[in-house]
Order: sequence, then C-alpha cells, then structure tokens
Amino acid sequence: MSEEPSFPSGTLMKGKRGLIMGVANKNSIAWHIAQQLHAQGAEIAFTFINEAMERRVRPLAESLGAKLILECDVLDDLHMDRTFATIAKEWGTIDFLVHSIAFTDKAALEGSFVDNTTRQNFKDTMDVSAFSFVDAAARSAKLMPNGGSMVTLTYLGSERTIPNYNVMGVAKAALEASMRYIARDLGPVGIRVNAISAGPIKTLAAAGISSGRHMFSFNRKSSPLRDDTDPKGVAGAALYLLSDIGASCTGETLHVDAGFHIVGMPDEDALAKG
Ligand code: NAD
Repeated sequence: MSEEPSFPSGTLMKGKRGLIMGVANKNSIAWHIAQQLHAQGAEIAFTFINEAMERRVRPLAESLGAKLILECDVLDDLHMDRTFATIAKEWGTIDFLVHSIAFTDKAALEGSFVDNTTRQNFKDTMDVSAFSFVDAAARSAKLMPNGGSMVTLTYLGSERTIPNYNVMGVAKAALEASMRYIARDLGPVGIRVNAISAGPIKTLAAAGISSGRHMFSFNRKSSPLRDDTDPKGVAGAALYLLSDIGASCTGETLHVDAGFHIVGMPDEDALAKG
C-alpha cells in the first residue's frame, strides 16, 4: 500500500477500539478515516456489504492489521445481529463507531426531485442512508459502557438544494436530525455523536450523481479555499471527533468542504477562472 497518502501518526487513539462501516475501496471516505485512526493507534473492525465487495475491503483492512472483517448489509437485521454479537464476543466493548453509508437508485439522482421520487425508493433511501445510523448507534451504545464517540458522514444537500442530489438530500436531513437526537439520548452516558459534512470527493457513491463534474468544478471555483475537499481533512476531522481531543463536542455537524457552505454568492471573477 506504499502509494497510499500518509497520515499524521501519534497516540491519540491508542487503546481505543472501534467499528468502521462503509469502506468499499481505497477511495472511500471511510478508508481515509481508517488510515488516520490507525496511524494514531486505533484497533479497527470493518464491515463490507457483500462478497463482491469483500475482495476489495479485506486486503485493505488486513493491511491495517484488522482481525474483525465482517459482512454486514445494514438492511439485513441478521447481518446487524451477527456483526454486533461478534464484536461483543471478541472485544466486549468498543470506543468508537464510524458510519459512512448511503445508497439510492441512480435514477433518483438526476432531474426533477418531485417527479423522480417514488414511494419505494424514498423509503429504501431513508432506510439505508438514515435509519442504519440509528440502528448502528443503538447497537454500538450497548458496547460503550465507559462512554465513546460516533461519527456519520453527511453532505450540504441536506441544508440547501443541490442539482440532482434529490432524495439523498432529504435522507441526509433525516440523518443529521437523527444524529442530534442520538446525541441528546446518549450524552448522559458519556457518548458523543457528531456528523461530518464533507464537500464533494471522488468516490463510488459520488460517481452516481448526475452532473458530478459540474458539482466538483463549481465547488472548487466558488469555495473560499478555491480547492477540492481533501479527504485527509475529512479524516482529520474524524480523528478530532473520535478522540479525546474532541471532548465536549456533541450534536455537531462539522463542515469540511473548503468553506463552500458559507458562500451565499461566489465572487464575480471566481466562476470565470478555469
Ligand atoms: P463509497 O461508495 O466509497 O461508500 C459508500 C458505502 O456505503 C460503500 O462502502 C457501500 O458498500 C456502503 N453501502 C451502501 N449500501 C449499503 C448497505 N445496504 N449495507 C452496508 N453498506 C452499504 O462512497 P463515499 O463517498 O465514501 O460515501 C461514504 C459516505 O460519505 C456516504 O454517507 C456519503 O453520502 C457521504 N458523503 C460523500 C461525499 C462525496 O462527495 N463522496 C460527500 C459528503 C458525504
């Protein structure tokens, strides 16, 4: 894995164990987070969605010394039962959870939201992309008797309308609201719960969005930093939220998007530049 970018090493996660759900390949945001947490001493369990994905995920996870690499489609209660039972049996407790999972039909990620949203896909998108965090958080909390920290991944399409993001934006709004309610419920037992709102990053999930190229170039040109979102910055934010240096931070949606979320109107010359 020598071509992988390096991440700051240290001991911020030393002695901490946790679960990362959502690695598909080396471009996945969850994989960047995994490398950063590992470089700071974390021991990580991974899940993958199905056998086809296992071929990609297992070698990556093993390169970080992972022993628990488990099949888990979040829509399957038996998979969820088995995953958390295995972690309980092998480790007893965990300190952190990373939820980096979303899915909708490709057909829903183009054109008109009001015309292209079916009842079935609305429900399915909510189930995979929002409820799965509620489910994973409830199960993880039972393994965090000494407190812990949870992070989920979201996008600005929850707060503002973004072309073609459509039903996924609605699911991300539900995810962020769920995150706040979970943070409220679990705060009294010392569990912090936060979301990272990442700017566009080239991954399998992002490839499903129509006019993705426009999205990347518009973000790059009009964000204050005039740059793409660096997945290493997202991984750094996850390290902050999941380690003890993130103490007292809960219920927060932290934007890591080159500042795009603060722009009401781009500078006149910004969009003209190539
Ligand atoms: P990715 O395709 O690498 O990761 C998405 C993951 O979701 C995959 O590992 C996939 O297997 C998993 N998944 C989908 N359905 C599942 C199911 N039923 N059960 C278990 N796993 C399932 O893409 P990514 O961009 O790294 O996405 C990770 C998260 O980050 C998603 O929530 C996405 O919405 C969010 N996000 C992505 C961007 C971006 O631009 N890439 C920006 C902001 C937020």
